Amino acid sequence: VGIVPTENKPRILLMGLRRSGKSSIQKVVFHKMSPNETLFLESTNKIVKDDISNSSFVQFQIWDFPGQIDFFDPTFDSEMIFGGTGALIFVIDAQDDYMEALAKLHMTVTRAYKVNPDIKFEVFIHKVDGLSDDHKIETQRDIHQRANDDLADAGLENLHLSFYLTSIYDHSIFEAFSKVVQKLIPQLPILENLLNILISNSGIEKAFLFDVVSKIYIATDSSPVDMQSYELCCDMLDVVIDISCIYGMGEDPEANPFDKESSSLIKLNNATVLYLREVNKYLALVCILREDSFEKQGIIDYNFHCFRQAIQEVFEVRTKATTQQHGAAAM
Ligand code: GDP
Repeated sequence: VGIVPTENKPRILLMGLRRSGKSSIQKVVFHKMSPNETLFLESTNKIVKDDISNSSFVQFQIWDFPGQIDFFDPTFDSEMIFGGTGALIFVIDAQDDYMEALAKLHMTVTRAYKVNPDIKFEVFIHKVDGLSDDHKIETQRDIHQRANDDLADAGLENLHLSFYLTSIYDHSIFEAFSKVVQKLIPQLPILENLLNILISNSGIEKAFLFDVVSKIYIATDSSPVDMQSYELCCDMLDVVIDISCIYGMGEDPEANPFDKESSSLIKLNNATVLYLREVNKYLALVCILREDSFEKQGIIDYNFHCFRQAIQEVFEVRTKATTQQHGAAAM
């Protein structure tokens, strides 16, 4: 993947009231902080640009806004902030009274939509670890209804919000981020198609293409995702990265412990196999398959080789297209 100018990167904004959990989400997903450590995070009171594009395939910036920012302050440059934004994530604390958050959500999305109607609006109903299953569903229904009623009252039926139940104490935050990021990847249909071809020709049951650093899956085949499979694959990725970092460093301390040769196989006691292969500097493929399908490992490896080749080509085209676009803009 070539160097893409910052201006062309899809940008994700993370917004919400103070203490809703924005910094925690960012730390847990992109900086491997453990959820318990977030208890000691200092509250955000400035716009934080967190550029993770050097370590992650997912090229975006997170702008963490303080909860009390005033849109009507003339120094708040909404053209600049919303203009280049791909997705706006609004975090609502579900353990707290959310009426103020809903008012803020409404104000934020209407303002952003005016500047840039192409923004994807994503609402994270967050901290749901403290809620019972019934309460979760009821909260989501209530927030969904109120937010949409407000938009309808304002005549904004074309503005669509998506809702996710999230918590940093389980995998839901990674799953939600995966869905948000996938909407911003123009090559997604191609990636899904490649994964479908790979699994159907290799006897694989489920395959995820992971961004290694964040554990966001940027694509999966079209069979339905169940949380348990995703969690299993996330856990495997953690194990492999930990082992690689401890034992894979070698002589050169700058060397990437996760490289072309990285692969791993875990056999579970229910006749299931987890198989991980490195795809490129940022991406890994993690598959779930039956033990007897893995007897034909030669075929799987051959198919994987073709898959890796195809992925390379997909992203080379992207880099060229971006360069051309940039060249044209410079003329
Ligand atoms: P910010 O001001 O929006 O950046 O909020 P913080 O990230 O500082 O989070 C405020 C508090 O919420 C911290 O004490 C976090 O530990 C807590 N928190 C964040 N996410 C979750 C979550 O998913 N579940 C629970 N129970 N607490 C959370």
